Amino acid sequence: MINDGKFGKYGGIFVPELLIPALEELERAFLKYKDDKKFNQELDYYLKEFAGRPTVLYYARNLSKKFGCKIYLKREDMLHTGAHKINNTLGQGLLAKYMGKKRIIAETGAGQHGIATAVVGSLLDIPVEVYMGSEDVGRQKLNVFRMELSGARVLPVKTGSRTLKDAINEAFRDWVATEDTTHYLIGSTMGPHPYPTMVKHFQSIIGRETREKILQKKNKLPDAVIACVGGGSNSLGIFSGFIDDEEVELIGVEGGGDGVETDRTGATLCKGTEGILHGSLSFVLQNYDGQISAAHSVSAGLDYPGVGPEHAHLKVTGRAKYDSITNEEALEGFELLSKYEGIIPALESSHAVAYAIKYAKIPENRGKTIVVNLSGRGDKDMFLAAREMGVKV
Ligand SMILES: *Cc1c(COP(=O)(O)O)cnc(C)c1O
Repeated sequence: MINDGKFGKYGGIFVPELLIPALEELERAFLKYKDDKKFNQELDYYLKEFAGRPTVLYYARNLSKKFGCKIYLKREDMLHTGAHKINNTLGQGLLAKYMGKKRIIAETGAGQHGIATAVVGSLLDIPVEVYMGSEDVGRQKLNVFRMELSGARVLPVKTGSRTLKDAINEAFRDWVATEDTTHYLIGSTMGPHPYPTMVKHFQSIIGRETREKILQKKNKLPDAVIACVGGGSNSLGIFSGFIDDEEVELIGVEGGGDGVETDRTGATLCKGTEGILHGSLSFVLQNYDGQISAAHSVSAGLDYPGVGPEHAHLKVTGRAKYDSITNEEALEGFELLSKYEGIIPALESSHAVAYAIKYAKIPENRGKTIVVNLSGRGDKDMFLAAREMGVKV
């Protein structure tokens, strides 16, 4: 191994020995192509022409006026398939192609990563199979249909709690047996090395664009950058543009669910403890025996009992700060952004919006410049939001 993939003591490679050759091959390919001119030209082309980059950094004038800060939104919600996930699936999909892989597998919870992988499979003409917990298959029929329309095969997983964490286990099991021909396309900055580093690399375009634009618009760096944290990829993507600027406050917002004091929460960094899940050492929601607890958040993308290891490192070193927003507060953020700006955010992103509003309301933060990463759009959440708000649709 060229790199042990550690962030302080977090991260690493905690997998069955059988998987090591596949991870080594992937690391070699990633290191080779990440600076390869032809690879980057092709990726750049797809990011622009297929996904719709660059995304704008939008000044939310009404919200800013209302709450007394200068609030900018990084509009990842404008991308094809509706969220930042496509940045990573394009990067890894192309890498799989350069590696000569004939098949891509992926895990998905609610289906967002599955869809972003399926469309890249169509684009690059590589067959995609998506592991999805059978509970989620039942709850997310429309997303299953979307994936299938894009030519992917959805494989329901009936083990464990039949949700995302079981789908990930099953995808790893598949990969052990098929690594010669198959790439496992993980959807966030989690898993064993090199995934956390690689996914952050493909998402770091968010941070680069944001830094350039805010400097152009304001001629200074923002005071705070706020993003929601599920596995941690959209947040690390935007944080990466500012990580060396100590004066920029970096804030990650977790899915608080019913509140961190309850059992129904997805706030892994706020409430979890150190542990190993899905191949790396990080924070985990677990009981005293190390059994993984079920996570809960109204937004499927934040409903995961683990979190990427680099966030664990940023937390313990104090470079980034982590807090949580409850389901109820997130729904308020969802409504406020829709009402004041005419932008309907994903429920995940609504957590970052709600936190930004809370932050703006604190008297000593008055007048500060805040960038919120709007990781996705709310179209996928309309039925759920309407139900939560007591509206019949
Ligand atoms: C999946 C998803 C997230 C959470 O994933 P991260 O890896 O933490 O970014 C956040 N927002 C949206 C819109 C998503 O689809």
